[in-house]
Amino acid sequence: MKNFAYTRAADAAHATNLIAQNGRAKFLGGGTNLVDLMRENIEQPDALVDVTGLPDQIEETADGSIIIGAAVKNSQVANHRLIREKYPFLAHAIVFGASGQIRNMATVGGNLLQRTRCYYFYDEAANCNKRSPGSGCDALEGFNRIHAILGSSPNCIATHPSDMCVALAALDATVQVEGRNGKREIKFDDFHRLPGDTPHVETDLQADELITSIEIPQNNFAVNSLYRKVRDRASYAFALVSVAAALEVDDGVVKNARLALGGVAHKPWRAFEVESFLTGKAATEENYRQAAKAELENAQGFEHNNFKIELARRTIVSVLSELTGNGEAK
Ligand code: SF4
Repeated sequence: MKNFAYTRAADAAHATNLIAQNGRAKFLGGGTNLVDLMRENIEQPDALVDVTGLPDQIEETADGSIIIGAAVKNSQVANHRLIREKYPFLAHAIVFGASGQIRNMATVGGNLLQRTRCYYFYDEAANCNKRSPGSGCDALEGFNRIHAILGSSPNCIATHPSDMCVALAALDATVQVEGRNGKREIKFDDFHRLPGDTPHVETDLQADELITSIEIPQNNFAVNSLYRKVRDRASYAFALVSVAAALEVDDGVVKNARLALGGVAHKPWRAFEVESFLTGKAATEENYRQAAKAELENAQGFEHNNFKIELARRTIVSVLSELTGNGEAK
């Protein structure tokens, strides 16, 4: 591992100033992904700015929204009464995401910024446009079982590894950030990017911007929600496909649907087609099937991951059916 300087930031302004002064500095949260990447020489920052001393509270606003500080640990979110009562699938997604030890270290801000687990990204001998822009993508013709089926490009077919972010995408969360030019708010669906021609640019964050908090708006549907993660083994594995869904059904008709997919794209994939297809329609398994078909119409598999298209379709239908008592309105 390369030597690096270490500074503990006193507040957000201090942190962003330190980062702005050194283009090769990085923010350090719990370090559960960044330190691994530094050990493998994939990330080689000159300096780390520790932001774990920044606000780490979970608060409810007067209008019922929840604000989660970026330095809050994943386990604090999953165990918090408000999260478990109002957004149970967010708590479940976090618990499915990692071991207890990792959840106790990893921060909310860091969870959003974790890097893909594509094998070739971690292999310095492999061609990887994300690690070395312009070098190619060995996953295209390589072993691509864990790779994307939606929104990929000829430059990168990696997936985003987070579980927590899939639920946050379905919840219409916003990401509050602060940089030298002040504060701004980014819609969750705009925060992570698809790979396009620049797979090394993964988020909408500017170089000096720090995530300070996540805001989840008040809603009436997330109490009836579910997170399902399909993976190769029961623990300590990333999703092949995951589904975060929340449904509000009134008199057998879908009033509100929110659904996002994990393990299928370079970003948490908000299933807008499913949501718009179902809104105003009967809460039946047949409609869930048609909604899933519409969402996956443009899905593209590769040699080893074609199975994910059918797996995603079935998981969407199964989760929605469970939320409405196997197809009957709840
Ligand atoms: Fe690199 Fe993306 Fe290709 Fe994986 S899929 S090798 S991360 S460019």
